[in-house]
Amino acid sequence: MARRKKIYEGKAKILYEGPEPGTIVQYFKDDATAFNAEKKAVIEGKGVLNNRLSEFFMTGLGQIGVPTHFIKRLNMREQLVRSVEIIPLEVIVRNYAAGSMSKRLGIEEGTQLPRPIVEYCYKDDALGDPLVTEEHIAAFGWASQQDMDDILSLALRVNDFLSGVMLAVGIRLVDFKIEVGRVYEGDFMRLLLADEISPDSCRLWDIETGQKLDKDVFRRDLGNLADAYTEVARRLGVLPKTNTAVKKPTLIN
Ligand code: UDP
Repeated sequence: MARRKKIYEGKAKILYEGPEPGTIVQYFKDDATAFNAEKKAVIEGKGVLNNRLSEFFMTGLGQIGVPTHFIKRLNMREQLVRSVEIIPLEVIVRNYAAGSMSKRLGIEEGTQLPRPIVEYCYKDDALGDPLVTEEHIAAFGWASQQDMDDILSLALRVNDFLSGVMLAVGIRLVDFKIEVGRVYEGDFMRLLLADEISPDSCRLWDIETGQKLDKDVFRRDLGNLADAYTEVARRLGVLPKTNTAVKKPTLIN
């Protein structure tokens, strides 16, 4: 059997050429990294959970009319997605202060923001993904004004959807990061939500206890990351409601 072609290997995912032109297979690894890959570990089961969770969020967003790259989940660790030209920006939406914003502006973590705040970082690992303004984005031609209008409304729609879905299961969506890509259809170009939506790229706090259920568990050594992600998946009904702690043979579909 011919070996499939690897297109790109990132910190948490591998991209392979898909079965048809314009498609890509996204493989979710168990690798966890933080602080621009200074801290690394393999968290058994993380890839399987993120594959399922990203499928769940992307499918739900598709159902409310948000265009995404997601086509279908292929197996435990892989999903088929549309190939896009990634816009080199990390689009961050914040509802509560945390992480780099708390540090930068001296706002206590957990403070509710007056309204959702959208930030843009330039995707460049060597530079540590620096915060940029729309001036930089326009001047360097990373995205047009029309793209930026579309990205802003896309980001806010994703925020409303995810905030509601999380609230329904007792989880506060503190902040999250998305990536947006372009697809060309004839003479037209459209933007799609790309990459992944998972607890790797969100901050999720239990509403009652404040317990962190996201990658901060790994970043800040707060416990077992796979347990936190399993809890998110269980609450959302993404995992079967059986006791997943008991390891027994299961049929994979
Ligand atoms: N984030 C991400 N990838 C990055 C940077 C940030 O997924 O390369 C997510 C992060 O998980 C959090 C949000 O974006 O949900 C805001 O992150 P922040 O700027 O506070 O940076 P951090 O504190 O993670 O360094």
